[in-house]
Amino acid sequence: MLLTISTTVRPATDLGFLLHKHPDRVQEFSQSYGMARVFYPEAGEERCTAALMLDVDPVRLVRSRGRSTPDYALGQYVNDRPYAASSLLAVALADVFRTARTGRCHSRPELAAGPIPLEITLPVLPCRGGPGLAHRLFEPLGWEVEARAVPLDEGFPEWGDSRYVRLSLRGEVRLADALNQLYVLLPVLDDSKHYWVAPDEVDKLIRAGGSWLAAHPEKNLITRRYLGRRQALARTAFARLAELGDDVEEDLEPPVEEDPAAGEGQGDTPPATEGDAQGDTPPVPEGDAQASRRPLNVLRREAVLGALEELGARKVIDLGCGSGQLVGALLDRPGFTKVTGVDVSSQALTFAARRLKLDRMPDRQRERLELFQGALTYTDDRFAGYDAAVLMEVVEHVDPPRLGALERVVFGTARPGHVIVTTPNAEYNVRYDFLEGMRHPDHRFEWTRAEFREWAERVGGEYGYRVVFRPVGDDDPEVGPPTQMALFSVENAGGGDD
Ligand code: SAH
Repeated sequence: MLLTISTTVRPATDLGFLLHKHPDRVQEFSQSYGMARVFYPEAGEERCTAALMLDVDPVRLVRSRGRSTPDYALGQYVNDRPYAASSLLAVALADVFRTARTGRCHSRPELAAGPIPLEITLPVLPCRGGPGLAHRLFEPLGWEVEARAVPLDEGFPEWGDSRYVRLSLRGEVRLADALNQLYVLLPVLDDSKHYWVAPDEVDKLIRAGGSWLAAHPEKNLITRRYLGRRQALARTAFARLAELGDDVEEDLEPPVEEDPAAGEGQGDTPPATEGDAQGDTPPVPEGDAQASRRPLNVLRREAVLGALEELGARKVIDLGCGSGQLVGALLDRPGFTKVTGVDVSSQALTFAARRLKLDRMPDRQRERLELFQGALTYTDDRFAGYDAAVLMEVVEHVDPPRLGALERVVFGTARPGHVIVTTPNAEYNVRYDFLEGMRHPDHRFEWTRAEFREWAERVGGEYGYRVVFRPVGDDDPEVGPPTQMALFSVENAGGGDD
């Protein structure tokens, strides 16, 4: 199994720094099922290529799975694993390029932070769904995709294509993003995970896909396949992606079998049986799954829109707008005469511009909209002059020592008539199956109802805002709602500015 990563950034040998692997050496990394090696077939100023080669030892692979595995069988010794890039390669990639995946690089921080010209090639990749699926998965992430089906036997074209493709990807992409995308999408294309899908796979998926998966048009297929079609896990993942505040419009219905046609029936490995019926965790009772069928992010958006309308706000600024869902919904309502989205992340703003079709937006709408990059912890004149500011699922992304700065900037300086804040209710987390810790790796904290109340009342008192609280989502009698919302309104007792 082979994967190559090339760049033409100058000097191209900086790839060695980004991958934390020296171009002059062959390095070996022992895996439970074989040996991974990294080496550089070329390492010049203009172009540098790193190769990750994985030699799978089928015997070790079987042993590493244990005898209790139901498909422990001779058949497991005779399969395509040693030759085809697959989920094993994804696991090796995650291990070998662990630091590179985080995007940290002390010696070349700017290079690690931004997009660079990349070319990634996988000569043989199992792809259930054929080349078309490879296009659908990688193109929305900005890759130029070349995927060719590998014929079963070149001598016998009438036999047709195998379930393998030769894949190459070209694009200007941040290296850490590329590695995380491969980590998630290789097993998705392969669609026959070699290991048991454990609950912590949801965490791995959210960690690797957090920055791009929620906005991906094939997020349903990706999530379901990645989680080996384990419905309960997929449901948790959807709920948590919705927690990211992004685009999961998924209604958590049972999975629909996707594209059954392509790639199947060539049967050199049995169809995935892993992780289905006899998983490693007991089936989850689906008792109150129907309590609120609509995803939390939709409920939250509606709650915020409803509150803004009630408050009579016309000029609204969405602070930490993410990929712009609320901004889009505000623009659809002509009552909002000015709509502004701000985010610290340029990637979020790129997603927002794409979602809002900024380049094709009719002038009348475009005139009401402003989108810009900004940080909520620094005073910014552009935040002032609004009837209402929204901080939807944003405060919990801010380090506690910086919260005071955010309070000053929003309530003290920008000083809109109203501020709407939503944030997770930590007490509700016990209602999410498999969730351990916080709902998202980037959350710096999650407040209980009492903690949120205390914070909001203290801030309201300090800056002269009245505050009321509202639940969002199904208000559980024991642990409260999944999302909590505070509506702040400036106390205008003494007149003065309005
Ligand atoms: N409000 C959106 C996105 C929530 S995710 C929604 O509910 O759909 C949190 C967002 O806050 C991210 O897009 C993140 O980039 C942004 N953010 C975090 N800290 C920020 C800061 N200090 N200044 C501006 N934006 C910030």
